[in-house]
Amino acid sequence: MAAIDIAGVSTVYPNGVRAVDALDLHVADGELFALLGPSGCGKTTLLRTIAGLEVPAAGAVAIGPRDVTRRQPGERGVAMVFQDYALFPHMTVAENIAYPLRVRRAPRSRQREAAAEVAGGLSLSGLLDRRPGQLSGGQQQRAALGRAVAAGADVLLLDEPLSNLDARLRLEARTFLKRLQRELALTTVFVTHDQAEALALADRVAVMEAGRIRQVGTPREVFQRPADTFVANFIGSTPMNLLTAEVRDGRVECAGGSLPGLPGLADGTPVVVGVRPEYLTRGDDGLTGRVAVVENLGVSSLVTLECADGTPVGFTVPEHEEPAPGEPVSVRAAPGRLLFYGA
Ligand code: ADP
Ligand code: MG
Repeated sequence: MAAIDIAGVSTVYPNGVRAVDALDLHVADGELFALLGPSGCGKTTLLRTIAGLEVPAAGAVAIGPRDVTRRQPGERGVAMVFQDYALFPHMTVAENIAYPLRVRRAPRSRQREAAAEVAGGLSLSGLLDRRPGQLSGGQQQRAALGRAVAAGADVLLLDEPLSNLDARLRLEARTFLKRLQRELALTTVFVTHDQAEALALADRVAVMEAGRIRQVGTPREVFQRPADTFVANFIGSTPMNLLTAEVRDGRVECAGGSLPGLPGLADGTPVVVGVRPEYLTRGDDGLTGRVAVVENLGVSSLVTLECADGTPVGFTVPEHEEPAPGEPVSVRAAPGRLLFYGA
């Protein structure tokens, strides 16, 4: 078992793209850690840098007590599952799983034993003689996990492990992945662009943008206390309201009205007020606008108000309590649910 320590790492491609930029990160021993961010922010590159498939231009990578910056991938005690699974198509499931042992020239009987053992834990026992082409997406994913697990690594790196699965299977695979990780107590870093997946699965999440980490925290911390407006925008199943406002008499005034303020700020200070649509409810003493759009979210609906100057403000209502389009509506914030950012 091993922690991962990344200190000042920059990874630059030959074309000059700095995909990882002076990045620091600590992943604790046994942690299930998510790297979350939009496409192109450097998640895969960071994973490949930990695995040793990319050599950083600066900085150091340590796994457990060892500095592995100059070590080959095979010497790092790391197993990586690629986004497309990268199973060997001409090998059976058993051969794929046992591949790391074959590379180490383990006896054939030991290879078969290990494949059967790992396959049992992954519900693949009945499929050991199939080839990857004869498996469903979820089965291929489990076979790829099996190969990584059989490698006996201390650290498991998973690049978008669930993104090739359909919605229902993805939920099943989430539970499966979490259970497997707990049982094996493997330090695991998984990449995702799906904030819901990161929040549901991970012990802690790093939110990345343009090669850098904007915030590291538990799912609750990044949801409740986004460090900046980028994180605030990125996290949450409905987009957070980010309203341009100004401090006035202990409150903040914005286009649609005013909201409770932040003590200690001088009148006239410009701020951006963040509030999740889930934390706005109908009531006076807040923001007023006309209903522009009502979207069905399932058990609730997202209502978008348009304030006098056109600023949109979203809030959620239980089903059957939707106001009519065009109706004037006032909303107020639940106590303690406002976030303030520098403007
Ligand atoms: P993510 O996994 O978050 O989508 P990547 O790590 O794949 O991001 O890419 C980060 C940046 O590096 C992007 O700008 C991408 O275009 C660039 N990039 C990725 N791979 C290469 C490569 N092999 N050569 C040059 N640029 C690359
Ligand atoms: Mg990627």
